[in-house]
Amino acid sequence: MRDIQIGGLVSFTTIDYPGKLAAVLFLVGCPLKCAYCSNPHLLCPGNGEYDPERVMDWIQSRVGKLEAIVFSGGEALMQGNATVDYMQRVRALGFKIGLHTNGFYPGALEQAINIIDWVGLDFKATREKYPDLTGQDIAYNNMIRSLDILITHNKDFEVRITCDPLFIDKDNLMEIMDILSARGVQNVAIQKYIPHFETDTHKTTDVMRNQFFIDTDLRDKINSMFKSVIWRE
Ligand code: SF4
Repeated sequence: MRDIQIGGLVSFTTIDYPGKLAAVLFLVGCPLKCAYCSNPHLLCPGNGEYDPERVMDWIQSRVGKLEAIVFSGGEALMQGNATVDYMQRVRALGFKIGLHTNGFYPGALEQAINIIDWVGLDFKATREKYPDLTGQDIAYNNMIRSLDILITHNKDFEVRITCDPLFIDKDNLMEIMDILSARGVQNVAIQKYIPHFETDTHKTTDVMRNQFFIDTDLRDKINSMFKSVIWRE
């Protein structure tokens, strides 16, 4: 079996796993091509830069100092068994396992579901806009299947919506909120789009990016629909 490919590591974070001191592993590879991707260097398999066994030795050295290891990307589940096996080894050291995922691999999620303690799932746009944003026709359906797996297994998870104003307007955001609320989702994070790599065909302004966050009626309405709503500005 191929070794896990780790393209990046954040050795300490308090914001990537709720309430836990954590480190983040950024795994190589992603099946999507989001217009706003901030990690394009991670998208191509073959770009693994870290020796997985040295990373494991380092993780072992963090026992008693960190509480959780978060698997992010790229798309952490794209590496399938290699990711799941590595998660199992990390869990055996006593760490909580976090996962940041775009939901493209519901089969791998199902396989890993009992190893993972907390998940941050991206809900990127409405069904109509998903193919344009992600470059993948099946991404929306796969993400919904992953969402339903998290719900069915009663997992601790957060659904994250990054408000790229070229792909989401306020009506779209409410449409997504209605879908999540109808499914009984409890924890939602509305994230401001950060313009890492603006191009001639993908240009936004502060006014466009801020529109969701300064609309108090919209915020109040969404806040009333869920147990927890985080507005990440
Ligand atoms: S899912 Fe994440 S890593 Fe993959 S292309 Fe989109 S933003 Fe980039």
